[in-house]
Amino acid sequence: MTYDGPIGEEDTDMKVVTDEAKCCGAGQCVLLAPEVFGQRDEDGVVVLLEPRPAEDRHAAVREAAAVCPGAAIRLDEDA
Ligand code: SF4
Repeated sequence: MTYDGPIGEEDTDMKVVTDEAKCCGAGQCVLLAPEVFGQRDEDGVVVLLEPRPAEDRHAAVREAAAVCPGAAIRLDEDA
């Protein structure tokens, strides 16, 4: 039996990058994936909570990136 290391969020192959300059604070990403995205209290600009989300959150993160009105969410799925 081989040990492949701990199974955790580090093992996922998705990397999320947000661009605060493009974010218009609409909050769609927060509604779709509240574990991954938050918003600043002052102006609603996105705060990236989890840059390497676990696999069970990938679908929600992809949807957030697709619906983001500012195109402020970039996904690197080979990371
Ligand atoms: S959906 Fe896009 S524009 Fe809206 S808060 Fe999230 S990153 Fe910002």
